[in-house]
Amino acid sequence: MSAPLRPEIVVDLAAVRHNLRAVAAEVGPDVQVMAVVKADAYGHGMVEVARAAREAGAAWVGVATGPEALALRAAGDTGRLACWLLMPHEDLAPLVAADVDVTASSLEGLEQVHRAVDATGRSARLQLKIDTGLSRSGCRPEDWPALVEHARAGEEAGRWRVTGLWSHLAASEEPEHPANAHQARVFAEALEVADAAGLRPEVRHLANSAGALLHPDLRHDLVRVGLATYGLDPAPGVTSMRLPHLDLRPAMTVVAPLVLVKQVPAGEHVSYNWRWAATAPTTLGLVPLGYGDGLPRAAAGAAEVEVGGHRRPLRGTVCMDQVVVELGPAGTDVAAGVGDAVRLIGPAPAPSAQEWAEACGTISYEIVTRLGGRLERRHVDSEAEHGAEHETGPQTALAGAPREEHA
Ligand SMILES: *Cc1c(COP(=O)(O)O)cnc(C)c1O
Repeated sequence: MSAPLRPEIVVDLAAVRHNLRAVAAEVGPDVQVMAVVKADAYGHGMVEVARAAREAGAAWVGVATGPEALALRAAGDTGRLACWLLMPHEDLAPLVAADVDVTASSLEGLEQVHRAVDATGRSARLQLKIDTGLSRSGCRPEDWPALVEHARAGEEAGRWRVTGLWSHLAASEEPEHPANAHQARVFAEALEVADAAGLRPEVRHLANSAGALLHPDLRHDLVRVGLATYGLDPAPGVTSMRLPHLDLRPAMTVVAPLVLVKQVPAGEHVSYNWRWAATAPTTLGLVPLGYGDGLPRAAAGAAEVEVGGHRRPLRGTVCMDQVVVELGPAGTDVAAGVGDAVRLIGPAPAPSAQEWAEACGTISYEIVTRLGGRLERRHVDSEAEHGAEHETGPQTALAGAPREEHA
């Protein structure tokens, strides 16, 4: 990959497809895969990633919000599509009309779906969420029997079909965490209550990426795979030990041209507030992106970048538009000049999103999701027939997996 004209995010859709196939192979043929593409696919581009996910065989795509789901429909996605973060006064009619699975966690949520059914004259696809211990969205277990009963009554009246029953894990990346067993138990009880009430959902689901990979007993009918789709390890240190064969490939590369290279003497200070000074004569390079593009300011003093195959440290404070890299002390062959590519994040030898996360005291989810701002995003397909840098046009229609009723 040569140096770009401007800083950009390059996303390899072949890596996305590969990662989803790797997860599908891991969970086996009896478990469906939902590619989670909320928050612009964790910074990777929602429409393009969803299309790649369908190509890789993902039966489901999941997003958080209604507008995200409608944007996917507008882009041509016709497969199973779920969204789960509804606003209290949101009109769900467009979602029901677009055959999107909506989730209710309360009787108020059911009322909202009732109104959308009235408005559209269509039966909705409704999922119910139980709070098994995350205490975020989801129905409290003590309120679950009533929610299930009302949902069943609505189903019998032809208002909707209850397509899914689900919950979300609190600590799946920590396999021994007591939350896992607790949530598994609460979820199993909730499924029994629903079954006794006569609900026969298409899918029951609990697991995110780490749940899918590390907890075979929590996979149920469907796993909701976000982070692993992007080739990032949802449980650093654990996944590689338990699943050494699993080969996830980072889909994102952040690359920029060096815009300036200069020698400075020992004692010269770098960037705002003089937080770093050269201890010997050295060569500095200017990288034209900063926290205005989502680069964490907390990375100052800890993160590295890759230039010409070598790791080089960032020096001084990360600014809004720029950051400084130390290319090498005097006497070393810095082998880098203006216009050369600086890779900030990407597959080895570039630093991983996980390394940036550790440098910043956060998780790789946040590192990739916050990248954007002025960065241009370019989708490539390293497995396309005509060379490695085949570009996918932004207008390309989104191929949807054929809709199928799940037995
Ligand atoms: C974001 C999200 C996921 C995906 O989680 P990962 O850890 O990225 O796999 C799954 N389910 C729900 C409800 C989510 O909000």
